[in-house]
Amino acid sequence: MLRQYELVERVKEYDPDADEALLNRAYVYTVQKHGTQKRASGDPYFSHPVEVAGLMTDLKLDQETIITALLHDTVEDTLATIEDVEEKFGTEVARLVDGVTKLSKIEAMPENERAAENLRKFLLAMSADLRVLLVKLADRLHNMRTLHHIRSPEKRRRIARETMDIYAPLAERVGMYEYMREMQLLAFEQLEPEAFATINNRLEVLRQSDVGQVDRIALDIKQALAADGMEVEVWGREKHPYSIWKKMAERHLPFEQVTDIMAFRVLTDSPQDCYRALGVLHQAFQFVPGRFKDYISTPKNNGYRSLHTTLFYDQSMRVEVQIRTREMHHTNEFGLAAHWAYKQGDRPDGAVGWLRDLIEIVDASHDAEELLEHTKLAIYQDRIFAFTPKGALFQLPKGATAVDFAFAVHTDLGAQTVGAKINGRHMPLRTPLGNGDVVEIIKGKNAEPQLSWLGFVVTGKARASIRRAVRLKERAEVAEIGSKLFEEIADRLPTKVGKKAIKAAVERLEMDEAEDLMFAIGAGKISDREVMEAIVPGSTADLPQEADQGRAISIKGLTPGVGFTLAECCHPVPGDRIVGLRRPNETVQVHAIDCLELANGVDADWVDLSWGERSHGAVGRLNVVLYNRPGTLAEMAGVFARNTANVMNLELQQRDDPFHTYCVDLEVQDLAHLTRITSALRANDAVAQADRI
Ligand code: MN
Repeated sequence: MLRQYELVERVKEYDPDADEALLNRAYVYTVQKHGTQKRASGDPYFSHPVEVAGLMTDLKLDQETIITALLHDTVEDTLATIEDVEEKFGTEVARLVDGVTKLSKIEAMPENERAAENLRKFLLAMSADLRVLLVKLADRLHNMRTLHHIRSPEKRRRIARETMDIYAPLAERVGMYEYMREMQLLAFEQLEPEAFATINNRLEVLRQSDVGQVDRIALDIKQALAADGMEVEVWGREKHPYSIWKKMAERHLPFEQVTDIMAFRVLTDSPQDCYRALGVLHQAFQFVPGRFKDYISTPKNNGYRSLHTTLFYDQSMRVEVQIRTREMHHTNEFGLAAHWAYKQGDRPDGAVGWLRDLIEIVDASHDAEELLEHTKLAIYQDRIFAFTPKGALFQLPKGATAVDFAFAVHTDLGAQTVGAKINGRHMPLRTPLGNGDVVEIIKGKNAEPQLSWLGFVVTGKARASIRRAVRLKERAEVAEIGSKLFEEIADRLPTKVGKKAIKAAVERLEMDEAEDLMFAIGAGKISDREVMEAIVPGSTADLPQEADQGRAISIKGLTPGVGFTLAECCHPVPGDRIVGLRRPNETVQVHAIDCLELANGVDADWVDLSWGERSHGAVGRLNVVLYNRPGTLAEMAGVFARNTANVMNLELQQRDDPFHTYCVDLEVQDLAHLTRITSALRANDAVAQADRI
């Protein structure tokens, strides 16, 4: 493990201005906070953050990143708080540590494909400052290096799988090939132990049978170039077992047929020399067609630059050769990290330099697909990622609230929501969520989605679910009214009406269930007579025919033979003072004398009218405001039933917190009947207000 002074010295080496005292304080802080915690290896826990900080010094990263690496597990795993870190080490470090802490929460996440994809996106979204991602990658690399200390094979495999699926591709994404290769190798060893052992054995056998082969080929390459007057460095290595394995798997080859197990690197002084070296090698050796790639004129989006070619070394062997300058090589191995550290020198605003570099690279990228990959970084800026308390991750649009989150987790959870804790604190449901928030939804037994939520939810799923729930509830309420009215209808029948009779009636009416019937009654979609007929066929034969649409009504004052209609605006009922509007080729419109619509009747002839003597059975319209509490609707329905009024139509107009406002069309005998009902409603505790419209 790095000692305190060694770490500080390393930083001072590349950054003489680094704050030595602050670095020392961070080292001591992590040692104190982790105290006697132990790693699986038995080492003190703080050896881990110190090693991660060491990895960050290899990349020559700034002191904020080094301090972040030292503190990266303190908030997650010790009693330290982010506030304390901010007070002691400043806002920038606190922000970075907070970022790494949030990334660490993913590790408890369920393993499935969708989650893995979400996790990658989350990591990218969280890594607007890529230093957060770098610390996390170094953290993972060190954990992989010490993975063999973990006893449980399942846990080792889970971590290895996660590394292979998520962290290695991320390292590649930001060009950290060195990290990527080591992670893959260590993960491969856990995931495919047999293949790993077999390939290692084969490589060992090859080495034994031809000792020094790598060096000999490297020398041949070097001499070929020297013959043309070029002085270059040549490095040769075996490819690591994982890339050989990948090739075997991809091309379905046995080991013996994987011919290019060696790779060579030619390091030159200038890009011109790279192309010159390529020309020389293509003359000296036969090259494999279709394997040449020019990443110098077209760098990869993560900044990688190099020429790649594959040569036939002799008839049976192919070797891969990468040609690049020394500077390119450094940048390639550590990708954007190296790029960033390198440019730090001439950038006073280093912290934001990262993003700008990224933009430069995006600008320089010609490959549409790579560009797309990169711009995803920007796309994720309008998403947020939030966790359940158990660590499941959900992606939501920016501005999404706890209610959106609840519906995203499960429709039922959304429906039962009564409150939310965000990062452990009770917060209003309308609070927009932040990236990495942990959201705990508080459920209520009899909770139901509120119409007012539509004012702040942003996801389609929440919106649709709330609407649906409100509609269903309204339907249930109308059915409740219908049940009350049904009792009254049933009383008029000669026999007692049991469940069986209702079921038979439902079938006769070609409905699905009793609630459909109650809803139809409550909403006035079916007449009393039809209901009675459905329950006891023939039961209404002796009853006098009911009036159709108020046609039991006669009007005095009309020219004989002229038709009339009762106006829909004022719904006059017998007993109201009425007036008729007559226009050419139309029936006479009968209005109540105080109807506001009459103002629009100046073009018509006004006819003095009155009700015929036995007129009865018109539809009156009421505006009823109920208190918003259970049972008030049934109370209203009870009033209608006791007064034998048919509900023709019922519509919820407004649903506010203390009140629900309904528009009710009621079939009544006459004005006296309607007035009785209005008074009865006003006298009822459930009703706040009842008026004719
Ligand atoms: Mn860690």
